[in-house]
Amino acid sequence: MPDSLADIAVPLPLYNTFTYLVPPELQALAKPGCRVLIPFGKKHLSGVIVASPERSTLVGLKYIKDVLDLTPSFSSEMLELCRWISEYYVAPFGEVLKAALPQGLSLEGKRIVRLKVHDPLSSPTSPVDLSRKQLSILDALRVKDGQTIPQLQAKTRARNIHATLNEMARQGLVDIEDRIPQPKVKVKRERVVQLSAQGLDLLAMKTPVDKLTAKQTFILNAIGKSRRPVREILQAVGTTSASLKTLGLKGLLSFEEVELKRESLYENLEPPPQIVLNAHQQAAIQEIEKTVEAGAYKAFLLLGVTGSGKTEVYIEAIRKTLAEGKTAIVLVPEISLTPQTVRRFKAHFGGDVAVMHSHMSMGERYDSWRAARDGNAKIVIGPRSAVFAPLPNLGLIVVDEEQEASYKQFDSVPRYNARDVAIVRARSHQAVVVLGSATPSAESYHNALEGKYRLLELPERVDNARLPRIDIIDMAQERKRALDVMKQQAVVEGKGFPKRFPRSSVSQLLKEALTQRLEKKEGIILLQNRRGFSHVMECYDCGFVERCDSCDVSLTYHQTKKHLRCHYCGFVKPPPTVCPQCRSAELRLHSFGTQQVEQELSELFPTARIERMDLDTTNRKGSHDKILQRFGKREADILLGTQMVAKGLDFPHVTLVGVISADTQMMLPDFRASERTFQLLTQVAGRAGRRSQAGEVIVQTLQPSHYSLKHVVSHDVKGFYEEELAYRKELDYPPFSRIVLLEFQGEHEQDVHRHAKTFADYLDSLNREKCFIVLGPADAVIPRIRNRFRKHVILKDLRRLDPAGASMRLALVKARQQYDSSPLGKSRKVRLIVDVDPQGMM
Ligand code: ADP
Ligand code: ZN
Ligand code: ZN
Repeated sequence: MPDSLADIAVPLPLYNTFTYLVPPELQALAKPGCRVLIPFGKKHLSGVIVASPERSTLVGLKYIKDVLDLTPSFSSEMLELCRWISEYYVAPFGEVLKAALPQGLSLEGKRIVRLKVHDPLSSPTSPVDLSRKQLSILDALRVKDGQTIPQLQAKTRARNIHATLNEMARQGLVDIEDRIPQPKVKVKRERVVQLSAQGLDLLAMKTPVDKLTAKQTFILNAIGKSRRPVREILQAVGTTSASLKTLGLKGLLSFEEVELKRESLYENLEPPPQIVLNAHQQAAIQEIEKTVEAGAYKAFLLLGVTGSGKTEVYIEAIRKTLAEGKTAIVLVPEISLTPQTVRRFKAHFGGDVAVMHSHMSMGERYDSWRAARDGNAKIVIGPRSAVFAPLPNLGLIVVDEEQEASYKQFDSVPRYNARDVAIVRARSHQAVVVLGSATPSAESYHNALEGKYRLLELPERVDNARLPRIDIIDMAQERKRALDVMKQQAVVEGKGFPKRFPRSSVSQLLKEALTQRLEKKEGIILLQNRRGFSHVMECYDCGFVERCDSCDVSLTYHQTKKHLRCHYCGFVKPPPTVCPQCRSAELRLHSFGTQQVEQELSELFPTARIERMDLDTTNRKGSHDKILQRFGKREADILLGTQMVAKGLDFPHVTLVGVISADTQMMLPDFRASERTFQLLTQVAGRAGRRSQAGEVIVQTLQPSHYSLKHVVSHDVKGFYEEELAYRKELDYPPFSRIVLLEFQGEHEQDVHRHAKTFADYLDSLNREKCFIVLGPADAVIPRIRNRFRKHVILKDLRRLDPAGASMRLALVKARQQYDSSPLGKSRKVRLIVDVDPQGMM
């Protein structure tokens, strides 16, 4: 038998695949999708077979050394999906494949071989069939069971040991386990309490004992005959640990530390509540069920206000999918993958559900991946990487909160958007996609209008809660008023005008509302979504903010160079000395963070208990949940924080939501700023007033007539998107164009600029049909991070000229090749990051 050929992708930043020879003895095993061991340069690497070409014109090809998989790691569908990702996001194929596998699996040499049959005579295969190589492996294992493959290799000196071992595993002689590195996380422990024998006796007599207080008797009764977590008891009886300790000293209680199992997060399953679906839910479900039955690709956009029962629709869609003998993936944003979410699905589908979570250890993630691949799980729920779950026979993908930026991988290759990958995957599997949201992305809404997605609506909340009343406060007016008051005061007191006026971030109306709510002990949520790095220069009197003429994003002030700059096109201008709109000289840098607001609030309301939630207070694992729990239990009066507070749980006691400054988001130099503002404010407004109590929302802003606020006030989702899409169309922003962000990073600013400029020039010269626009190079909004300069080149590919983006992508790949083979590219002094469809432009 002659050698055959295999094209192999390697997990390196290289854009081509490599052709290798497959020796006859490995040909049966070397299937596309299998991981193989190959000599590469002076090293050995594990790569993935992505194709089996008939012939090659190349000479001097090397042999693959071994086949690592018994069953392919990638089905042919998954290979195709990864190929698409590699092409669309201009990411090396091998790196895409690596990202699609659970971490740890791609590591070679971590597999442990154990004897399955100690006496081969009793095995189904008679030992005569065993080769010398196999016998020597068995001998080595009999001396010491459980060895790694390199260990066995060293002892037996066998060639193709992986393939040999795979063959032996197939014959039932050995077991090969993937040993994934053990988690380094500490085992979580919890203190539990139960009654001692003496305590139980006391309880059984059921007579009040005069030595115990009523409260102590109550505690004993609350614990009863069970063993309960101390935490739970304290909560249930509303006592302190000191009183438990006293009972312990009396010999009535005993304490113990037990291990807290991860899975226990999802235990204590109650049966799902009996729900009668409303007419809108039923109509949506019927539509989806019909398509699931038809077994053809179709995408739905489920537009439903918060609390309209979207999750129930997902659940019924999954039920139908399973009934058709197929499997389902549920994607949720990282932040909403809480135990509650998982419990809800587990209550319906029990053991069919596997969870993939970035907080899981590698071992746990690998278990979920394997359960999906082997058909032991039929539903995978997880954040963006769960879109790669190797479920066979996929029938449905649900993407909840489809507009969430966290679906986009932004920090490593491939920079994919899981929502878009879900669509592509579903299309090739003839599966159904349900994108759900109360505030979809402009892109998805546009697709629904164009008929690419079928629009399904849930216009009402299931609890019939009234929508909150929303007031917009013009902070420029507010300040003028405060200023007048101060001026009058100065006149009354016979002093001159103060040079600087203190600026308050709480308006009069908000202050009154806060006072009222604090008195009535109703819950309050305050949002201040300030991101640390962007400073806009604004007019204190009229709220004017300087914007770029050609990009229509706000200009950012740069401290070091003391100028205003558009980071899209690089346009630079000196900061004005008087306001171009109202001639006022009161131009200020604007930036108020959550900490400052917290300080101000505690001065205004010294007795109020404030819980702050932002990146700084939630970087410890679990602290996010704890803050929400404390607020839910009313141990705090005010929950103040960044966008995290908009996505918390339901708090029925909240009747007031305040937005300190809607402008922090609106003024970000990003074309999605209005969309994000609309989404965030709609979301946070939805936190006010549930069920019986009507809520109130107060939004403070310097741009009271901004269109995104107008539509928030009128609760007009469709109206907003109409206006937003018109604006996007006019300025050729997505969905009417496709944006690619090229980021160049390096230690020396001039180098970085030269690389960026060279690349931009290559692109320009390749842009013969003028179907895309090259902007830049310009400094990034944060021009330097950890001593590395950052420059951006932005491509705007016009959909009307290049509908599928093919011309732009071709130019991009060519420019990349030109650059990589140029002296500049080879110098590797500057790092290039390609981000297709970026979610952030900072
Ligand atoms: P969404 O995902 O749209 O925010 P959920 O599906 O989470 O909404 O529903 C909100 C709450 O209402 C859940 O507790 C759910 O069990 C409940 N619910 C959903 N549909 C109904 C219904 N038809 N009748 C009563 N309760 C419902
Ligand atoms: Zn002004
Ligand atoms: Zn510009």
